[in-house]
Amino acid sequence: VPHKVFGAGERIFERGDAGQEAYLIQRGNVEISTDQGGKKVVIANLGPGEVFGELALISHQARTASAMATEETSTMVITLDRLQSAIDRADPLLQTLLRGNLGRFIWTQRFMLQHASPQSGDGSLERQARREEEVEADIKRGIHSREFELFYQPIIDLREGWVAGFEALMRWRHPEKGTVSPGEFIPVAEATGQIVPMGCWALEEALNAQKRFQEIVEPHGRPPLFMSVNVSGRQLLELDEIEKLGAVVARSGMDPQYIKLEITESLLVDEPMHAAVALEQLRNKGVRLAIDDFGTGYSSLSYLHLFPLDTLKIDRSFVSDMVHDPRRERIVRAISRLARDLDLNIIAEGVENDEEMASLNRFECDYVQGFHLARPQTADQIAELLAG
Ligand code: C2E
Ligand code: CA
Ligand code: CA
Ligand code: CA
Repeated sequence: VPHKVFGAGERIFERGDAGQEAYLIQRGNVEISTDQGGKKVVIANLGPGEVFGELALISHQARTASAMATEETSTMVITLDRLQSAIDRADPLLQTLLRGNLGRFIWTQRFMLQHASPQSGDGSLERQARREEEVEADIKRGIHSREFELFYQPIIDLREGWVAGFEALMRWRHPEKGTVSPGEFIPVAEATGQIVPMGCWALEEALNAQKRFQEIVEPHGRPPLFMSVNVSGRQLLELDEIEKLGAVVARSGMDPQYIKLEITESLLVDEPMHAAVALEQLRNKGVRLAIDDFGTGYSSLSYLHLFPLDTLKIDRSFVSDMVHDPRRERIVRAISRLARDLDLNIIAEGVENDEEMASLNRFECDYVQGFHLARPQTADQIAELLAG
């Protein structure tokens, strides 16, 4: 185990530093402080047996405070690898508790930070907050008046050339604004927590549609169609909520191996510990897990095997630039190869033309999804398409 000794008055790290290790104090004293308007504010004085720096270690965030040894201090250095292997060796009950509580704590903190900062340059924080409140109230009204609906976009098996499944995508038929895209209301619903019940509803609705679609193709001897549903990280915050999703799956009577839940890559990057537990919990329900928007989150590829994944979805931005940008094409090829090596299915999203199809064919991509093949449609339209 590596040790480090700091002299009296020595800086251990500064707020804003990139930090990849935590410290356990064996002897000495460490002062933790932040800087408020140029003034140092001491948060804590820590002594032997206490740990500091663990937040940056687990969340891959910059240091949120500074640490200084006030006297000669010797520490044991805790790296992420070491923490990971310690957790892996721990009793399973202990593992769950550790990962769950710690992960949830960090997730909540991060979430609050994220939504406290202004996202766009136009408008003050206050104005943004007011707008968010308006949308929140409008969403509430919309849920009550049943204005939300799911569209289904076919996902094609590239080798067989047939529809293998669908991705359920939420739409809001607004009485005044017309169809509102999820890009507008999902972020607000995530910030307010409304996404939690909405997401539960979406899963239930999508599984009903899956049953309906299944009944159409079954008589033709076609293999079962899968249904892919987007799940927000916010829905995985509480283990209770995960249990609720599991209950929806169980109640639907559908075979869970044909249900895919799409989780964005950013969840794995931002909250690897929490994600590991949450995904394990979901996987135990028998459902399959897909990583959405893969390639945009800078996830460390070496971490992928830690998560119980079934599918990688290559983000649209890679697919759409691929034909004109050899670097993008090489990335798509590398991701395809990686997925194959890890025994993961691969879905390329946002396929818009024949050239992209040809490249994806060469890379032996499993599934494709995009406007070139089919747009998201209502359940009635899909039912018609499958029957025809
Ligand atoms: P996503 O999960 O990456 O979904 C794919 C998006 O790409 C969809 O946008 C789809 O309509 C669009 N798309 C598919 N093929 C093409 C193509 O060839 N070209 C182009 N330009 N776009 C294509 P949509 O439906 O607007 O959804 C946007 C995002 O909203 C989704 O991105 C997802 O992150 C979120 N979302 C949608 N429905 C739900 C939901 O039920 N729950 C949650 N949590 N998020 C949802
Ligand atoms: Ca998705
Ligand atoms: Ca996606
Ligand atoms: Ca996307």
